[in-house]
Amino acid sequence: MCAFALSAEHEDFRRVVRDFAAKEIAPHVARWDRDCHFPVDVVHHMGELGLMGLTAPEEYGGSGGDFTSLCVAIEEIGRIDQSLGVTLEAAVGLGINPILSFGSEEQKQTWLPGLVTGRHLAGFGLTEPGAGSDAAATRTRADLVDGEWVINGAKQFITNSGSAITSLVTVTARTGTRADGKPEISAIIVPAGTPGFVAEPAYDKLGWHISDTHPLTFTDCRVPEANLLGERGQGYAQFLAVLDDGRVAIAALAVGLIQACLDECLKYAGERQTMGGPIGRKQGVAFQIADLEVMLQGARLLTYRAAAVRDAMGTPGGPGVAEFKQAASVAKLYATESAVTATRIATQVFGGYGFMEEYPVARYYRDAKVLEIGEGTSEVQRMLIARGVGLPVE
Ligand SMILES: Cc1cc2nc3c(=O)[nH]c(=O)nc-3n(C[C@H](O)[C@H](O)[C@H](O)COP(=O)(O)OP(=O)(O)OC[C@H]3O[C@@H](n4cnc5c(N)ncnc54)[C@H](O)[C@@H]3O)c2cc1C
Repeated sequence: MCAFALSAEHEDFRRVVRDFAAKEIAPHVARWDRDCHFPVDVVHHMGELGLMGLTAPEEYGGSGGDFTSLCVAIEEIGRIDQSLGVTLEAAVGLGINPILSFGSEEQKQTWLPGLVTGRHLAGFGLTEPGAGSDAAATRTRADLVDGEWVINGAKQFITNSGSAITSLVTVTARTGTRADGKPEISAIIVPAGTPGFVAEPAYDKLGWHISDTHPLTFTDCRVPEANLLGERGQGYAQFLAVLDDGRVAIAALAVGLIQACLDECLKYAGERQTMGGPIGRKQGVAFQIADLEVMLQGARLLTYRAAAVRDAMGTPGGPGVAEFKQAASVAKLYATESAVTATRIATQVFGGYGFMEEYPVARYYRDAKVLEIGEGTSEVQRMLIARGVGLPVE
């Protein structure tokens, strides 16, 4: 048997999430996408189903499950809708994970119960107008004044950061200069509603219309000194660890999208008739669909192998971290680039209908592109993978 085949429990859990997505998301998704509507009640329901709390310990309201289960949930939600898939991915990976991994006991008790039940969401603000792939170029500052962090700066493209149920955003900021002259970067929790913290109007995006994404500004925004996440100066290391998990989760989201493309193409290739028969009988179409199956199997194996390495590692940065980092980048790169190709193939199989919003493949095509960008672009993954095999690449 394959060393990282999913267990019977994982497959049972997959059916539960699939059923939920079919009933609660699929019937409404086209309308929500058109209206750019963020369905807060569905987020609550995902929380009630236990999806946000999958990896959190029971003492904080979670179920103490494994990372693989989270990937299964993201794949199945993402198969029906990528926006709600990334809402779940970011809720856990960027909202809960930093607090769970690096927060004080008091921070965990304060924030996690609301987040793991899906009553609240949290964002992670790393990217700035001048700092994306080069995240160390953070300009946002946090100065310690009379027992408070005074934050000034801006973040951009931050998921789950301005919804009606967002309770906090964790932001990275310069808190000083290290002995080697480089900026000291720390992570700080900023509760929603703090004066000086503004989630600006949501972006008008190519895809992921249902997900919540905002630019953020901080103007003399004061939070208590105790809102520092983990140790001062550890913000850069913290977000690198958070992003490793996030890359595998994004790969799972991509697997869901490839599966959706295959499902839709198989149906359509059997129905659509040209030149005396269904298009699925023409090699030109059938071979493209065969390629979807290959991409699906490859992406799924790489993704769940990376998840298995993560589960074996235990805590972030535990033994096997180098293997996990490489596995995460490989899975993210292959799965997301395959997903973009898969949506192009699916749109092509649907012909002119594939360009019309009445068929879901048009939405898949719009939603796919960002997978190659968020949580580390394809170029950044290639850079990390090249370093992983020993090349001294910059
Ligand atoms: C919808 C959406 C949601 C997001 N959600 C979040 C979030 O919740 N939190 C958050 O912090 N960020 C979030 N991001 C930001 C995302 O992580 C960044 O957009 C991404 O890391 C790329 O950064 P950038 O946009 O600044 O591009 P840049 O870093 O400016 O890159 C521009 C181009 O140059 C390439 N490039 C850059 N440096 C190199 C290099 N050294 N070698 C080779 N090529 C290079 C890139 O690959 C890219 O093609 C989100 C983005 C989007 C679009």
